[in-house]
Amino acid sequence: MTDTRVGIAGAGGRMGAALIRQMSATAGCRLVAACERSGHLAVGRDVGDLAGLGALGVAVSDSAEGIFRSAEVVIDFTAPDATASHAEFAARHGVALVVGTTGLGPAHEAALQDAARKIAIVRAANFSIGVNLLLALSERVASTLGADYDVEIVEMHHRHKKDAPSGTALALGEAVAEGRKVSLADVAVRGRDGITGERKPGAIGFAALRGGDVVGDHTVIFATEGERLELTHKASHRRVFAAGAVRAAAWVKGRPPGLYSMRDVIALTGGA
Ligand code: NAD
Repeated sequence: MTDTRVGIAGAGGRMGAALIRQMSATAGCRLVAACERSGHLAVGRDVGDLAGLGALGVAVSDSAEGIFRSAEVVIDFTAPDATASHAEFAARHGVALVVGTTGLGPAHEAALQDAARKIAIVRAANFSIGVNLLLALSERVASTLGADYDVEIVEMHHRHKKDAPSGTALALGEAVAEGRKVSLADVAVRGRDGITGERKPGAIGFAALRGGDVVGDHTVIFATEGERLELTHKASHRRVFAAGAVRAAAWVKGRPPGLYSMRDVIALTGGA
């Protein structure tokens, strides 16, 4: 089999560096192109130098559309507006997409849905295997324990993170809501302050902490009178997200159009 030709959008970012390192250590995938936003310091530099690997012969471009001309799959960990426009390029050039960007609003989601009519997209709020198991477990525990158990989802991330709660926390909320057969939008409580009154039965609460260099901690708490069950995942290195995203890139090549999840990639179905 020939190598999968992969492009990276957002090569100068934290995940960009982790992806370049992961690609260089993965057989069967070849990094052929990379881009950054215009004016970013990484533009024009060799991707290998950015990731501390020495020159790899691929320069970072400021033309996002350019990378869709040479890659078969593009991995995008950038920002919501950038991801929406990359989805359009991907559909135009028939290139599969792996999206890790979080904090997408309804217009960004619609852009992904549109593109997924023409190309295959794997989108995940979290590409780690452990978190994807946590999603399946949370759904199963929620359906087993029922609504008498109050659910609170607590996350902590590094000081540079721009969106809150994290995309993973929201995905965990969706998993719990799915287990309870309710809509998350109807029961979510996103942060509390002041005289909030008593907790509403059935609410799914979120709390977001920010500080230091925390890569990503998530805990789903199921609390009732007399006991509390806590499911926790802690990522200590971005390599786990990069490894999952590169695995998704190899998986998505040649798939029919559609919006896929990490559950599809690692074949996790139903309860874990
Ligand atoms: P970062 O800010 O370090 O990197 C993002 C990079 O994208 C920056 O270098 C920025 O200049 C670049 N960028 C912005 N607009 C661009 C454009 N139009 N074209 C090309 N590049 C552009 O952030 P990060 O920590 O690497 O995270 C990036 C995104 O990935 C965030 O949304 C974050 O929440 C998400 N994330 C997801 C996972 C996951 O597993 N799904 C894991 C970690 C981070």
